[in-house]
Amino acid sequence: MLKVTNMTKTYGQGSKAVQAIGGLDFEVGEGRFVSIVGPSGAGKTTLLKCLCGLLKPTSGSVAVDGVPVDGPPESMALVFQDYRASLMPWFTIERNVGLPLEGRVHSSEIRKRVDEALEAVGLGHCHKQYPWQLSGGMQQRVAIARAVAYRPAILLMDEPFASVDAQTRADLEDLTLSIQRNSGATVLFVTHDVDEAVYLSDQVIVMSSAPSTVRQIVNIDLPRD
Ligand code: ADP
Ligand code: ADP
Repeated sequence: MLKVTNMTKTYGQGSKAVQAIGGLDFEVGEGRFVSIVGPSGAGKTTLLKCLCGLLKPTSGSVAVDGVPVDGPPESMALVFQDYRASLMPWFTIERNVGLPLEGRVHSSEIRKRVDEALEAVGLGHCHKQYPWQLSGGMQQRVAIARAVAYRPAILLMDEPFASVDAQTRADLEDLTLSIQRNSGATVLFVTHDVDEAVYLSDQVIVMSSAPSTVRQIVNIDLPRD
């Protein structure tokens, strides 16, 4: 369903040009949990931004179900590492979770989905609170709830658990897995952590920064029960 063809991305021009991605090809099937691993600077975040249309590839293409991506597709949701930047501080938790649905579905449907999503992430009691009243791990749960309530076909997560403590991280990994299995969504998950990638995924994309500026990619399929 997601197909990347001979994609490159170069930042800047002339002598200041940085080739972040050089010639990637891969495919991700529906309902897969794919991790993208690699060292800092390998181009993982750049790849994710190109996948969701926040950045335009310099050459090559990204397509979802055969349709070229040229802006954020309706069918995608994003969860970033920095939950502080992703929640609106002046809105309640329930408003934050329902925000992407406003104007898209009826308010009674929004209420239903927000209730279900907050329940699913263990924050059924936090509707009327504000982000700053919650811990970092709880705020990241809210960001996940927002993605869940949106019911995306494709969920992109950029190092979503890098800023939370180890126990919270383990909880959120299991939560993400159960959400993915229940919803059937395709997940693309960027992480530094190979153990996390192997635990979560049935497909791993390894990006390396060698040689020089051309990024290489290796696709590994993992059996998952
Ligand atoms: P990763 O997420 O794997 O750490 P990035 O996608 O952030 O890698 O970066 C890949 C390369 O692109 C790095 O060399 C980085 O310095 C460069 N880069 C990323 N964003 C920009 C930008 N906005 N302008 C110029 N270079 C950038
Ligand atoms: P209220 O809860 O005040 O009755 P509504 O449910 O009528 O509010 O609408 C809330 C928002 O959702 C409004 O911006 C409205 O335009 C939008 N909306 C309502 N129904 C639909 C719908 N079927 N499809 C898309 N947007 C809708």
